[in-house]
Amino acid sequence: MSAFPGDVPSSPSADGKKVLLAAPRGYCAGVDRAVDAVEKALELYGAPIYVRKEIVHNKFVVETLTGRGAIFVSETDEVPEGARVVFSAHGVSPAVHAEAAQRNLATIDATCPLVTKVHKEAVRFANTDYDILLIGHDGHEEVEGTQGEAPEHIQVVNGPEDVDNIEVRDPDKVIWLSQTTLSVDETMVTVRKLRERFPNLQDPPSDDICYATQNRQVAIKQIGPRADVVIIVGSANSSNSVRLVEVALEAGAGAAYRVDKAEQIDLVWLENATTVGLSSGASVPEILVREVLEFLADHGYTEVETVTTATENVQFTLPKNLRADLKSAGFEPDKAPKRPRPARRSS
Ligand code: SF4
Repeated sequence: MSAFPGDVPSSPSADGKKVLLAAPRGYCAGVDRAVDAVEKALELYGAPIYVRKEIVHNKFVVETLTGRGAIFVSETDEVPEGARVVFSAHGVSPAVHAEAAQRNLATIDATCPLVTKVHKEAVRFANTDYDILLIGHDGHEEVEGTQGEAPEHIQVVNGPEDVDNIEVRDPDKVIWLSQTTLSVDETMVTVRKLRERFPNLQDPPSDDICYATQNRQVAIKQIGPRADVVIIVGSANSSNSVRLVEVALEAGAGAAYRVDKAEQIDLVWLENATTVGLSSGASVPEILVREVLEFLADHGYTEVETVTTATENVQFTLPKNLRADLKSAGFEPDKAPKRPRPARRSS
C-alpha cells in the first residue's frame, strides 16, 4: 500500500500562505499490517473479532474497525472462552499469551515485528543475566509487553530524571533498550546520563527506535524551522505523534499542535501563520491528513510543498496463522516481506 495515494493538490496562494507537508508521514508497516490483520480476520472468520487493546493508537481506526465488527477489550478475560482475539501492534507479554491459552482463545498476534525484535533482545540479555534498562514510558502497552518478557531483569527508565535512582547488581553488566516510538534526541540524552553512571553500559545490538519513528522525526525537524505553526495529526495516546509535536518545537517551529482530525484545528492558531507544517503519526490514515489539507486550503493555504527526507518501502507479512487460514480459504496472501534498514545513531 502506498503511503501517499494520489497527488496532493497545490496552487499558488495570493498572500504567500503555504503548507510544508512532511514525507514520510502516517502509516508505518507495523500499523498497516495490524489493521490489515483485523480487516482480513473479519473478512475470513466473520464478526465479531475481539481485539485486545486498541489495535493501533488512533481513534479513527478503532472506530472504523468497530463499525465493521471488531470488539475492543482491555484484557483477555473480557473475551468469551474459545473466541478469536487479535493482539495489538504494541505487543504483549508472555503472561498474556498464557492467559489466552488458558481461556482457549484463538489468537492472532499482530505485534509489530520491530517490537518483537526488542522482546527478543530483552530475552537474550536476560538469559545472560544482564540488568536491562528499558527507556520508555511507564504504563505504555509496548513497555508493559517488553518488560513482561523478563520482569526480574528489566527496569523502566522514563527519562534522565530517573537515572540517579537506578540500582543494578553489576555495573559492568548493564544494557539499555528502548521503546520503539521515542524521540531519538531525548533518548540519547538519557543514554548519555546513564553512561555517566555506568561507563560500561552496553548499546542495543541495533536501533530500537524504529525506522518509521526516526523518519517522521527527521522530516518534521526539517520543517520546524521554516514553519510558523506545525500541525500533527494523531491521537493523544499515540506516543510517536506526541513526540512529533515536541520535535517540531525543539526544531524551532513557532507553535505546534496535535489534532485527531481537521475539525479540532483552532483558527486562532493560524492567525499570524504564513507557513504551516503538517505531518501525521505512524498510526494515522492518510485520509485524515487530506482532510486537514482541505481545511487549510479553505483558509487560504492552497500552496503545498512536500518536504521529502526519506522514502519508505517497508512491508511486513500478516501473522503466520492468519496467512495460513487465508491461503486455505483461497484468499490472496499478503505482500512479500522487506526488512527495514534504519540508520545507526551514535550515543
Ligand atoms: Fe512498528 Fe515502528 Fe510502526 Fe510501531 S511505529 S508499529 S514499531 S513500524
